[in-house]
Amino acid sequence: MCAACHSTDWTWTRVSGRGVAYTFTITHQAFQPAWSDAVPYAVVTIELDEGVRMVADLPAEDFGDVAIGRPVEVFFDDMPIGNGGRFTLPRFRLRRDEPDPS
Ligand SMILES: [Zn+2]
Repeated sequence: MCAACHSTDWTWTRVSGRGVAYTFTITHQAFQPAWSDAVPYAVVTIELDEGVRMVADLPAEDFGDVAIGRPVEVFFDDMPIGNGGRFTLPRFRLRRDEPDPS
């Protein structure tokens, strides 16, 4: 849904996978068993360079350094699910090549 006008008239398009942390929370309680070894971790609303926002987590090595406005980039991770299967999840990590805006 469009965040500006709430339209559901959208199409798929290729994006850069780069953006900034728009806002975040730190999760201390796993909401799904596959994440029980990962807590605490940061759940971040990412604003992509193209203006689209999406929600993702940061890897453990980044969660302590997250801040609003920090540059991030996507990576894709195969995650286990309870029945022994796996699914691919878009996740984000801090871009260390960019200066810290804070
Ligand atoms: Zn719109």
